[in-house]
Amino acid sequence: MRMLRRAMWASMFLLAASAGAARAAQSVAPGVELRGTWEQGAVLYGRAPVGSKVWLGERELKLTPGGDFVFGLDRDAPAEAELKVQLPGQAPKTQRYPVARREYDIQRIEGLPPKMVTPPPEVLERIKADQRAVAAARKIDSGGLGFLESFVWPATGRISGVFGSQRILNGEPKQPHYGVDVAVPIGTEVRAPAGGVVVLANPDMYYTGGTLMIDHGYGLQSAFLHLSKLLVDVGQSVKQGDVIALSGMTGRATGPHLDWRTNWYDARVDAQKLVPPMPAAAP
Ligand SMILES: [Zn+2]
Repeated sequence: MRMLRRAMWASMFLLAASAGAARAAQSVAPGVELRGTWEQGAVLYGRAPVGSKVWLGERELKLTPGGDFVFGLDRDAPAEAELKVQLPGQAPKTQRYPVARREYDIQRIEGLPPKMVTPPPEVLERIKADQRAVAAARKIDSGGLGFLESFVWPATGRISGVFGSQRILNGEPKQPHYGVDVAVPIGTEVRAPAGGVVVLANPDMYYTGGTLMIDHGYGLQSAFLHLSKLLVDVGQSVKQGDVIALSGMTGRATGPHLDWRTNWYDARVDAQKLVPPMPAAAP
């Protein structure tokens, strides 16, 4: 296991070195390893010697017993990030990293029922309750290590929506789209992209319909939206590949699809960057 992981890290550094500056695994301190791309919406992984402390900006990161850590850069993360590391018994060292800016699509959708674009006053309380429930679920850190797994697609199909798009609904600019949409028929099995614990399971949220959230540990979470059926309950542990729900088009959905989104605490990160390219459709 140990050997395998070392080999994995080594090959990742070779990859990083060959891909140029943006991926450079420039170390903040000796013995601290980093992988990932410093760009908006990215998730980066690191490992520091046991007993180290690590901060992203002002935020102290939680390290696993083995020294692994993870952090995400928000869709709108500023142009520079700062990582601070304190090795055991040493003074802290700080390194600044430029964060590449991403260009996001602008997506216009016309002809939605007006009540879905501007919710009627009688549902505002319900929407607020939904938002509170999601915010509370996001604060949960189950302490699991699912975040270290190589993520897999929760469903495969045509990608019909991407992370970060600015949505203009019936001519009104709305919240950006934070998920990756996979166009799949209603009733398609949705699988856990990595292990974790179910932290929210609500069959009927106003905007997102059947909604499931899984905590992969250390702040990294997945949400699955517009589901037709939930097959797991809050508190339940799931393994990568477990069928957790059936897809649908509940809530504010314009067609059947799975909307998968990922967060690192409050930072919106791009789920698509966690998985290999979508497999080509079967002939
Ligand atoms: Zn979507």
